[in-house]
Parts: sequence; C-alpha cells; structure tokens
Amino acid sequence: MPAHSRLLIDGHWTDSSDGQTIPLHSPITGEHLADVAKATTKDVDTAVEAAAGPGADAMEAMPPFERAELLHKVADLLDERADELAATLTLEQGKPLHTEARDEVAESAEIFRWAAEEVKRLETPSLPGADPDKIVMTFRKPNGVYALITPWNFPMNIPAELVAPALGGGNSLVFKPSELTPLTAAGMIQAVVDAGFPASAVHLLYGDAEVGNALVSHPRVDGIGFVGSAATAEAIVRSAGLKRTLIEASGNGPQIICDDADLDAAAAAAVFGASFAGGQCCVATERLLVQESVHAEVVERVVAHAAAVTLGDPRDEGITMGPLNNESVAAKVDAHLADARAKGARILTGGERATGFPTDLYYPLTVIDDVTTDMLLFTDESFGPVLPITTFADDDEAIALANDSNLGLQAAVFTSSLKRAFRFIHGVRAGSIVVNDSTDFWEPHPPFGGASRTRTGWGRIGGKYTLLDMTDLRTAVIDIEKTRD
Ligand code: NAD
Repeated sequence: MPAHSRLLIDGHWTDSSDGQTIPLHSPITGEHLADVAKATTKDVDTAVEAAAGPGADAMEAMPPFERAELLHKVADLLDERADELAATLTLEQGKPLHTEARDEVAESAEIFRWAAEEVKRLETPSLPGADPDKIVMTFRKPNGVYALITPWNFPMNIPAELVAPALGGGNSLVFKPSELTPLTAAGMIQAVVDAGFPASAVHLLYGDAEVGNALVSHPRVDGIGFVGSAATAEAIVRSAGLKRTLIEASGNGPQIICDDADLDAAAAAAVFGASFAGGQCCVATERLLVQESVHAEVVERVVAHAAAVTLGDPRDEGITMGPLNNESVAAKVDAHLADARAKGARILTGGERATGFPTDLYYPLTVIDDVTTDMLLFTDESFGPVLPITTFADDDEAIALANDSNLGLQAAVFTSSLKRAFRFIHGVRAGSIVVNDSTDFWEPHPPFGGASRTRTGWGRIGGKYTLLDMTDLRTAVIDIEKTRD
C-alpha cells in the first residue's frame, strides 16, 4: 500500500488497527487509485490521545515566531512539490490541471504564508483598569486539540485554510479529509511533518461519517473546524456539545445583474461562477437573477460565453471543465434538472450527462431559463455545472429573491451604480457580497463565512480571522501597587 493511503499517527504511516480500507477511484478514468486505510475508533483514540498529551504540550511551548518559521517552510515545500501534488489532486478530484489544480496548490502555499505572517502580528489589547493600580493585559492562547473535517471539492485549499491557522495558533490537530480525496490531503500533511511540526501534534485519519463522528464526539477534542454540507454541519454541531466550533457549510449563491451593469462582464462572470470547479464550489453561481429589461441580452451573452467552456480530460491543455467528482453529486444535478424541466424551465445548453467519456461523471455546462422559486434548482444547492436564470423587476424584488434561501455564504451583484451596490451590500443576507465580479471571487485573507440569519455556519475563514477563532483570549489583571519594585 503506498504510504499516503495509510493513516498518519504519531509520525508513522500505518494501516488501520483492523486492516479495513476504502477503495478510491479516479473520476476521470474510473481507474482504481488506492485502497485507503479506514480509521477505527481505536485509531481515533490513539491519535487524539497523542494530540491531547505530548502534541498539545509541544505546540503550546512553541513560541509564535518558531511556528511562523515552520509555516513558511510548509509553504516552500508545497511550492517545491507542486507538480506532483497538482497531478494527484486532478487525478482524484477531477478538476482541470492547468487552469485549476496548479493554482490550488500555489494558493495553499500562500495560505500557509499568510498564517505565518499573521501569527507574528497577532496583537492583543491592554486596557485601563477602573482601579488605577490595576493593569489589564490580554494574551492569545491555543484552544487545544482540533478535529479538522473537510470536503472533497478543494482538497488542498480547504484543509490548508484550517491546518495553517490551527498550527499557527499553537494547537495540535487530528485531520480527517474527505474519503474521496485523501491523497492530496496526505501530500499536504507530509509537507507539514517534513517542515518540522512535532509528530505528536499532527495526525491524519481517513474515513467516512462514522470516523468523523468518533472524532467530533471524542471527549479530549477541544475544538472542531468543519467545512462541508449544511446537513453534516447540523449533525456535527449536535455531537460537539461545548467544544468550540468553526462551521463553514453549503451555499446557494445568487448573482444579481442590474439593468445598468456591464452586461458582457456580468454574463462572463456568471458562466465562470457556474463552471469553475464544475460548479462544485460553495460559492458557485447557483442562481442568476437578471433584471427583466435586460434579460434577452444577458441570455444571449451567457449562451455565447458558455460555448467556450470545454469539457474533457482535465489533464489535457485547453480543457476548462473536468468530470464531476462522484456519482452522488451527478445524481443530484440529474434530479434538480428533472424537477426544473417538469415545472416548465427551458434548457438552453447541456441538460444531461455527456457520453463518450471513460466515466459517467462528465456533465456539460447547463444554462437553464425560466427558473422559478419552487424549483429545487432555486431552493437547494445543486453543486454542479448549472446556471439557472430567474428574472426580477426591481431592486426590492432582487433582494427578496436573493434572500429566499436559508444559505447565505457569498453573493455577487453587477451594477454601475455605487448607490445600488450599497443597497445590495446591506440588503442581501450573505457573509460576503462581491460587486462586479463573480460569486467565485476568493482571496486568502478577507474574512469569509456564513451570514447571520442564515444556516451556513459561523466563524470566519481567511487571514487573521481564522487565527482569532482558533485561539483563546487570556486576561491578566495585575495589581501594580502590591508588586515589589
Ligand atoms: P459532506 O458534508 O458530505 O462531507 C464533509 C466532510 O464531513 C467529509 O470529510 C465527510 O466524511 C465528513 N462527514 C460526513 N458526515 C459526518 C458526520 N456525521 N460527522 C463528522 N463528519 C462527517 O460535504 P461534501 O459533499 O464533502 O462537500 C460538499 C459540501 O461542502 C457542499 O455543501 C459545499 O457547499 C460545502 N462547502 C462549503 C465550503 C465553505 O467554505 N462554506 C467550502 C467548500 C465546500
């Protein structure tokens, strides 16, 4: 068995304690890639105990500047190993090698660099006391042992968004990536270990919901960093009890196109938002809301841009969209399109799985018009290459439609009016509103996460914000009068 399909516990790549494995297949070719060790409850316990004992102690004792130095080393190693890591990422995930996977590895390195720099600048306030003899100071302390649980759509970026700040904040961790993309996660963790983080502080376990739940409910886990679906988030929060949680769940991102917008740029952004990562992105353009008066022109431009999306083997140059990652996501797209067709929506491009490929997971970009609020395409996250179009009459209706969802992660609005832009920034319930760019806009440092009054999770990913979430504020009150000079 190749090392990276084994579990990493206490510095050793090891089989699971009962020898069980999960088969891993490539969505591109269907080929069998590996039998990946499936952790048992005993393995979870061994990893958590090490992380809670010597791992937590070693991390707590490591000064912030040393943590920063190691995080920089991880970034350098990811850059050095980028070709191999990107090839593995594409093979098990299915996203285009040249336009996406290489970027994902480079961005992951950047996330480690951001965490390294933020750790060094993590200021904490000192406050005046009401009693003039008292000095009030604050410090940042680690939260302890983190269980990190991640999805398959960005198999390196998302783990990096949690692993880098967890270690930067001085925590130890047990990481369970998606069972569908374990090898990319292992490549990243190998760099973390090779950089010199203590073996007792970094553990990697593979497995499904059962393993995830054993980890989340383990009494010696102190905090949970979760990125994944809203349904799983609910289950995790129920098991977590009083543990600290950082929860990033599903999206149903609206892109609003106003009549005063640059319509071609807006159409191009919508096509990008629905096809980047095959639409398997939490911030994908899941709903395109277009002002009635420009609907015909937007549709024409969207269809023209959609023609440039090239589906095929994601390892080839010129391919901009690969297969979907797995059958369950493809079946969800089938179901959402069948529901929309039955309720009167009109398919403009695509509409069903492509044939002639080695697997049944290749789905063309599907542009679909006349989508109404009762369709699954509108109410639920589709997580595939689908661009559903709905019209609105005025800004009030656009905001009402955008907010007609309990998922509020990231939204986009295209308008040339700053006044209208601010109306949407304050009116649309999303953690981030992007004006005049795609819902897929992303950079490693702004705070990113679910909005209040929605069910998309809480806490913020990005730059110093995750570091703040993953550390604890310690207050010291010193009576200066009673100290000796
Ligand atoms: P998922 O919820 O099915 O799985 C995510 C992870 O949770 C996997 O590692 C899985 O094994 C684990 N898991 C499943 N059930 C569990 C349980 N009961 N206890 C503990 N762990 C459990 O999600 P997915 O299909 O892998 O990913 C797609 C979803 O992730 C989409 O909804 C997408 O919007 C969301 N997502 C959100 C963000 C964000 O930043 N908000 C980013 C990427 C993806």
